[in-house]
Amino acid sequence: MTTAVKNETEQKVIDGVRKQLYIGGEWRDGSEGATLAVEDPATGESLCDVADATVDDAFAALAAADETQAEWQETPPRDRGEILRRAWELITERKDDLSLLMTLEMGKTIKESEAEITYGSEFFRWFAEEAVRIEGRYSVAPNGAGRLLVMKQAVGPCVLITPWNFPLAMGTRKIGPAIAAGCTMVMKPASQTPLSMLALAQILEEAGLPGGVLNVITSSSSGSVMEPLIKDSRTRKLSFTGSTEVGRKLIEQAAEQILKVSMELGGNAPFLVFDDADVDAAVEGAVIAKMRNIGEACTAANRFHVADGVASEFAEKLAERMGSMKVGRGTEEGVEVGPLIDDDQRSKVSELVGDAVGRGAHALVGGHPRDGAGYFYDPTVLADVPDGANLLKEEIFGPVAPVASFDSEEDAVAAANNTEYGLVAYVYTRDLKRALRVCEALETGMIGLNQGMVSNPAAPFGGVKQSGFGREGGREGIEEYLETKYVAVNL
Ligand code: NAP
Repeated sequence: MTTAVKNETEQKVIDGVRKQLYIGGEWRDGSEGATLAVEDPATGESLCDVADATVDDAFAALAAADETQAEWQETPPRDRGEILRRAWELITERKDDLSLLMTLEMGKTIKESEAEITYGSEFFRWFAEEAVRIEGRYSVAPNGAGRLLVMKQAVGPCVLITPWNFPLAMGTRKIGPAIAAGCTMVMKPASQTPLSMLALAQILEEAGLPGGVLNVITSSSSGSVMEPLIKDSRTRKLSFTGSTEVGRKLIEQAAEQILKVSMELGGNAPFLVFDDADVDAAVEGAVIAKMRNIGEACTAANRFHVADGVASEFAEKLAERMGSMKVGRGTEEGVEVGPLIDDDQRSKVSELVGDAVGRGAHALVGGHPRDGAGYFYDPTVLADVPDGANLLKEEIFGPVAPVASFDSEEDAVAAANNTEYGLVAYVYTRDLKRALRVCEALETGMIGLNQGMVSNPAAPFGGVKQSGFGREGGREGIEEYLETKYVAVNL
């Protein structure tokens, strides 16, 4: 792999990141001195190398978290909150550099990186406020004889694992509530996008987070390095965001110590457009739900189910909008669609499109990978997608919108629920009764009603069925890092 020719600003931003492991408040190389390369998906070239942790390094990180836990949970909630608040301020001040860094390692456009920096950092501001609102209760037992005292306490050392698609926000959604609740942690970001997390650790250090509270390890051997930590008796919680396939394995591993577990897994979001919907608004919502993050979002609309009467109009308007989007390196002016994360992901998208076309779907726009450097795929709209097509069942994770039609509300809901996933659904209708009926019938953890995006730090994000369990954000988010203790009081 050659080293990319980067401009001066890009090089400066990369040089500003510490590329070591962060353990017990110190930056250090991996114990075997190995490194792993971070690639720019827009060019396929190497950006830099970061430390590659071994199992020994992972144990050192867990030991640091364990040793710091008792003191950290005694730190006043206001102090924990102030650190998060200060980190939010620092992220906000450094938004430009952090956005560029994210675009370089992940591929999304600068505008999208900026949006993620804002979204991701808001979890720190939100949980800074939640840190001082951890409440228990004291009540009279129903028979009047005794009292019930209920208290909330930090779970203890956490293992946190995040994916590459939102390199900062998937981390702040876990680190924010863990800090607020008084938990220490070992964080492992995805090996493809470690730089944003390393930059975040530097910011938290600067914001005054004591050494040992957050420990960050980067590794090319995720399975072998993380399994011993998940099975170690010092770990009390596992929070994972990633694929359902890996999540399933980790739930099994977590069973050994009966860990408290949160799982944010894959999705297969249906986007329903009823014949009473505002079709133009639905198209705008569809562009957001489909194209945010180049389609590489767990919340990405994976399939569009549109009422017979408006299906062609919707598909044609969507094709026009998606076909006009400029594809290119996320750092370039005017680019709206960056590259996919790697060649494997692009090949998977190509295969899914090939399968659908082979079964009778036709491309209104796109349908092909781009030649040349980087992992680009043209924004694609497929019409008349038949029931058996694989992309109606599998997570596409790319800029491809399959459109199928339905002829009744009942069929629409049945099609939407015909999946093992249950993260999010989108519904477009102007009929209030129908909106509420359909929202109640959908088997998902979240619904965008007449809007193409649901993510909000103040709301409980999470799925049902094989999309996982637990919630991140909202008032619910901190509960994942707290245990409930009940004291039976004899008066
Ligand atoms: P992934 O392959 O499951 O990887 C996610 C993380 O797990 C990465 O840090 C990866 O490390 C690590 N990992 C992989 N195998 C592991 C193992 N055996 N033991 C421990 N850790 C392991 O998922 P991805 O491809 O990065 O991300 C895409 C998936 O994430 C999609 O399915 C998407 O829907 C899901 N996602 C869900 C949410 C949500 O909130 N529900 C949000 C975002 C993404 P390495 O990369 O270093 O190997």
